[in-house]
Amino acid sequence: MRINETQLQQVNRQIQRLRESNNFYGARLNQAGITGVDSAEAFEALPFSNKQELRDAYPLGLMAVPEEEIVRIHSSSGTTGKPVIVPYTAKDVDDWGEMFRRCYEFAGITDRDRIQITPGYGLWTAGIGFQNGAEKLGAMVIPMGPGNTEKQLRFMIDMKSTVLTATSSYALLLAEEIQKRGIQDQICLKKGVIGSERWSEKMRRKITDILGIELYDIYGLTEIYGPGIGISCRYDQGMHIWDDYIYLEIIDPVTGENVPDGEFGEIVITTLVKEGAPLIRYRTHDISRIIPGECPCGSRYPRIDVIQGRSDDMVKFRGVNFFPSQVEELLGKFPEVASEYQIRLSHLEGKDTLRLYVETDGTVNFASLADRIAAKFKSAIGFTPLVKVVENGVLPRSEKKAKRVIDERYD
Ligand code: ZN
Repeated sequence: MRINETQLQQVNRQIQRLRESNNFYGARLNQAGITGVDSAEAFEALPFSNKQELRDAYPLGLMAVPEEEIVRIHSSSGTTGKPVIVPYTAKDVDDWGEMFRRCYEFAGITDRDRIQITPGYGLWTAGIGFQNGAEKLGAMVIPMGPGNTEKQLRFMIDMKSTVLTATSSYALLLAEEIQKRGIQDQICLKKGVIGSERWSEKMRRKITDILGIELYDIYGLTEIYGPGIGISCRYDQGMHIWDDYIYLEIIDPVTGENVPDGEFGEIVITTLVKEGAPLIRYRTHDISRIIPGECPCGSRYPRIDVIQGRSDDMVKFRGVNFFPSQVEELLGKFPEVASEYQIRLSHLEGKDTLRLYVETDGTVNFASLADRIAAKFKSAIGFTPLVKVVENGVLPRSEKKAKRVIDERYD
């Protein structure tokens, strides 16, 4: 997938706007004397933008139009340092609502649905994004916001909500609560639209098993409108991305080069029509890949895979890039293996070595299990690791996030 002629023209209008505003990126274009791009190669030579630059622009340095055109701001929750403030024009708000309406449509949701919104409202882009799209669709919005499980369930029953929008963890919590109370028969939910954080297949199965609903993954980030720039369809083979509003690239996070379709890398996004705060080649640090070929649904919108994690987690070994999430996924196919594992990368006798430690109980043959895991690893990731099967409880545990990848190669 490469940038097309229409998209290049849209990028050139964004470049123009940025140059005139002379914001952080506009100033860079002005200094470099870049007035436009006329080919995919020229586009791919444009500098990246990153979150730190957006933070440095605090409070309103991203603004690329006169202030009277700005109707709203949103902000990403900064856990470290200054937050990012994103200004929106009326058209930006409308475009975002339109993208979100399309998301609901792709999920088969209509104006006859009742949509219970549990993500947060306020500076966050989540709640209000789900709401704008739902209102554009003409559905009935039940704007709950997060928390208060008691009230959520009361309204879900009495208002006969048919669609739940939530983070995966909150959807799971509600599902478990519904199961615990044995009130499944009072719930009218048919579909769930779930935020794009990485979540396990196990979690997904649990939610669908308890609630008997279809789940759709929605993608987005505050810096680029918010959630709603893409969603999975009923075939559940990746998320369709609205490439009339954004252009999405997958790059090698180390070299910055575009990777071929089908290969995993970091998502980089360019806004094509945004006015308030256009971004060119913004590094999201989210890891995914373009899914090649056509979706069975027949839609021409390109697809990306579910988010695999953050680029900071990527492991590079003998020229192959992979993510701990891929290892987790393949280990999930072995019921005899526990959920703890460890990857140890070393440089031994002049050779890079990857050892994968997995735990199991004493009932299986360790050697044959190791061979089967190694073969699965080879076919899924591309090389054969040294698999070491150990007894349950041998690998270190910690209350916080366990360190699962230990890289001793460069010590
Ligand atoms: Zn599709």
